[in-house]
Amino acid sequence: MLLYNSLTRKRDEFIPRTPGKVSMYTCGPTVYHFAHIGNLRTYIMEDVLDRYLRYSGNEVKRVMNITDVGHLTSDADEGEDKMVKGAKREHKTVLEIAQFYTDAFFADCEKLNIRRPDVIEPATQCIPEFIEMVQGLLDKGYAYLAGGNVYFDTSKLSQYYVFNDFKQEDLAVGVREGVSADDNKRNKNDFVLWFTKSKFEDQALKWDSPWGVGYPGWHIECSAISLKHCGEYLDIHCGGIDNAFPHHTNEIAQSEAYIGHEWCKNWFHVLHLNTNSGKMSKSKGEFLTLSLLESKGYDPMVYRFFCMQSHYRKSLVFSYENLDNAAVSYHTLIARIAALKPDGAVDEAVFNACRAKFTEAMDNDLNTSMAVTALYDVLKAKTNDSTKLALIEDYDRVLCLSLLDRAEKLRLKEEEQKAAEAKALADAAAADPFVAEILQLIEERKTAKKAKNFAEADRIRDYLAAKGVTLIDTAQGTTYQIN
Ligand code: AMP
Ligand code: ZN
Repeated sequence: MLLYNSLTRKRDEFIPRTPGKVSMYTCGPTVYHFAHIGNLRTYIMEDVLDRYLRYSGNEVKRVMNITDVGHLTSDADEGEDKMVKGAKREHKTVLEIAQFYTDAFFADCEKLNIRRPDVIEPATQCIPEFIEMVQGLLDKGYAYLAGGNVYFDTSKLSQYYVFNDFKQEDLAVGVREGVSADDNKRNKNDFVLWFTKSKFEDQALKWDSPWGVGYPGWHIECSAISLKHCGEYLDIHCGGIDNAFPHHTNEIAQSEAYIGHEWCKNWFHVLHLNTNSGKMSKSKGEFLTLSLLESKGYDPMVYRFFCMQSHYRKSLVFSYENLDNAAVSYHTLIARIAALKPDGAVDEAVFNACRAKFTEAMDNDLNTSMAVTALYDVLKAKTNDSTKLALIEDYDRVLCLSLLDRAEKLRLKEEEQKAAEAKALADAAAADPFVAEILQLIEERKTAKKAKNFAEADRIRDYLAAKGVTLIDTAQGTTYQIN
């Protein structure tokens, strides 16, 4: 499988260190607010990767942290802890906020068919591991104490900027607009591993450490949690593109300094979902959530389908117009699937030929829009419905668009509608003997037409017309009007 690797800046053949076994780390959410649909785009595309690796026969161990401490409002170690900010906003404790938004996040994931990672680790559960790692970095001379905080010394590295997709001058934290330089830092890119002093002294959660009572920096949590659960060699690390710098850059710096060798060979970054007015943000207050889309009547699967239609390495613009187009396509697709009926044995040759097109798309840097095209090709294929249904079920192990489930629901809904219509007619007939006679004659006329007895069919029509009843033939059947 070819997968774009942010480290090498090209599509590399993805080869796990142990064949057939993949260790995968995902930066989890900062649980101070609901996830917005931009965050969820990243998790959906990571889910497709996770599922495709499994579909291709790998055993995947996927680890995700929950950021419940240490993520400050600015990436440059400045500002308030986002969790504290959330707690103040809602007059709750940080732990209550963390629990509430962690549950909300996984509820959204479930609705979007995002598989639960094998390991979910809140940062606050790993304080001893962070302390051990920070101590190790101090012992090896990669960290220093200044003004009460422990900093990582980036000047000790032969190469700090590893994701060369960016220009160094754009990345330099110290020169970012609105960010004041931290005088304790020896080098502008040094970052905090452990805080005991910050401008915001009301940090809610603090722990004792060899450097005083304090709390961990954001980057150390992902390095330590990944090392704890995936060991010293990680196959693939995922996140949204904004995580590449400084978060992932710092993760690489500290992890490799700590273990003394290369840590993770493949870096998978999902480009952002934007609105027409620009970046989507949780901190702006007004933001798009999955619940909002649901309240407007969108099935979460429509949003997943919308994401599937574009490549993960392209920015995606969200608008209701675009989502409506995806909704029409999704519901039309479901209606076409609902019309398929099992009709015999699966044609293995057709099955394998179609499946090869699907895997070709997915092996080509996870080209989900081509995979969706392969799905439409199944509907057009010259084969029986059983083969089509088997292929749809197979692709949907990866796309996870609940295709068969929604098709079944649509069928049931249509049956219920028909039954309700039949009942309404029966009720009307029971209440009025004239209506009962009309319905009886409509049935007899139908039988006559089927038997090609058109004279009888016409006689019934004329008989009813004489009684002031007009028959109206439609594609769905015959109705009547009493004049
Ligand atoms: P956070 O909860 O802020 O830590 O972000 C969770 C995940 O969402 C991270 O992987 C981010 O890189 C990613 N992310 C943030 N904003 C967007 C966006 N607009 N589009 C796609 N992914 C995003
Ligand atoms: Zn992370």
